[in-house]
Amino acid sequence: MIVIGGGLAGLSAATALADAGVRVILLEKRPYLGGRATSYALPDGSHIDNCQHVTLGCCTNLADFYRRVGAESKIRHYDRLFFADKAGRVSSIYSSPLPPPFHMGISFLRFSALAYRDKRAIAEGMLRIARAGGKPSDSDGATMLDWLRHDGQTEVAIARFWRVVLVSALNEELERTDARYGIDVFWKAFLANRRGYVVGIPSVPLGELYSGCRQAVEGRGGEVRTRATVRSIQFANGAFRSLLLDDGTEMRADACIAAVPHDLLLEILPEEMRERPPFANLRKLRTSPITGVHLWYDRKVLDKPFLTLLDHTVQWIFNKSLTGGNAESSGNELGQYLQLVISASYELVARTRQEIIDLCVKEVQEVLPLARDAQLRKATVVKEVHATFSPEVGSDAWRPAQETGIPGFFLAGDWTQTGWPATMEGAVRSGYLAAEALLNFAGTPKKFTVADLPAEGFCERWAKE
Ligand SMILES: Cc1cc2nc3c(=O)[nH]c(=O)nc-3n(C[C@H](O)[C@H](O)[C@H](O)COP(=O)(O)OP(=O)(O)OC[C@H]3O[C@@H](n4cnc5c(N)ncnc54)[C@H](O)[C@@H]3O)c2cc1C
Repeated sequence: MIVIGGGLAGLSAATALADAGVRVILLEKRPYLGGRATSYALPDGSHIDNCQHVTLGCCTNLADFYRRVGAESKIRHYDRLFFADKAGRVSSIYSSPLPPPFHMGISFLRFSALAYRDKRAIAEGMLRIARAGGKPSDSDGATMLDWLRHDGQTEVAIARFWRVVLVSALNEELERTDARYGIDVFWKAFLANRRGYVVGIPSVPLGELYSGCRQAVEGRGGEVRTRATVRSIQFANGAFRSLLLDDGTEMRADACIAAVPHDLLLEILPEEMRERPPFANLRKLRTSPITGVHLWYDRKVLDKPFLTLLDHTVQWIFNKSLTGGNAESSGNELGQYLQLVISASYELVARTRQEIIDLCVKEVQEVLPLARDAQLRKATVVKEVHATFSPEVGSDAWRPAQETGIPGFFLAGDWTQTGWPATMEGAVRSGYLAAEALLNFAGTPKKFTVADLPAEGFCERWAKE
């Protein structure tokens, strides 16, 4: 069996198949594994993540994958979220012993950046989502912004709460986001189960999480080939036949999982197949950008592991010197390495590197007083213009299933049909689902996907199948 693509979708498919005793050849065009969730060396030798990647407690399949490849202990978990307003005042959100969906209510009541009126609107909106088991009937076909306004949310509540959570989680503006995806984030992460919101951050560079994948695949007589680019996928008599690689080699196999981004899949499919189901709608899937900014200061400016910013362009600041995962890049024990993330960063795409750094430094100084006197030693900007597919209204229907209907040919990738937005969890789910479909085709069915966290407390009663 062949898997094309060494991102999380391809890696999870390949390791699951290897664990089931299948000999897999994984082909990845880059020199390293991990795809969009990886790390690499800068010309000066320091290692950075492509962008800070965060998992949540509700990402059960990603957690299963980390366990499978022996990377579980390299993820640190944080059960307190910190938010800073324009004046630098910090509030935190955390769980209490109250039953879901009320478990975060006490910290929410103390949240200083929102007035009573806004908190009341948010509490009512959250309760409505919870009572509908995460599936309110009036969300069909609506954008998240329309749904929130229709729900009676105040503009302040939208700007300082709903938008802050959702733009980071879904990498899209509320006016473009399908309400179904947005509501699901709140149900899974903040309402249904008290562990859903717990943040997981790798304590090593992202690329180091995947060494167990190679061992799993090679342990079953398979192979992981990097710098191996697939130029085209070939079919015969309506079934998968072989791959043509960039070096001219033809590789035949019984079956193949294509786990490459959707736009690149179209490039390697035969032209006559691109406009046919299940690929015909792929061109409709648009992408949205994420900008990561890496700042190295000469001293400590942040004492928290991470901070979410309200009313700023920068959405998250990660204290890499504290969370690990590239801490050595601070260059000096006394210094501090911060990684800033701006999701749906449409406004920044056309800006120069220096303009983005200046904007970020100014915002860091606004919320972190210690940064005002600190020296910036080094800065790097990573613009991912096509970071993830945009979860706009209607996009779910354009996502193909892993089972293509073409014998021997399967799809994986965060853009395939998983019910999840473009996340590491979505990518791993797609990889597991593709591996399940492939084994079903081979006549040796096996299940790899794991269940969501169970709904607890009152949510158990309200949850829908
Ligand atoms: C900047 C940024 C920040 C993000 N932050 C988060 C986050 O905090 N939390 C989260 O859950 N998700 C986050 N995501 C999303 C997450 O990274 C992706 O959803 C996930 O990694 C996608 O995995 P994938 O395997 O589907 O695709 P990819 O990671 O894109 O993997 C596809 C692989 O296929 C390879 N390939 C392509 N063409 C060929 C070819 N012809 N031959 C051989 N190989 C080929 C590519 O090189 C790549 O390695 C972020 C994404 C970005 C870009």
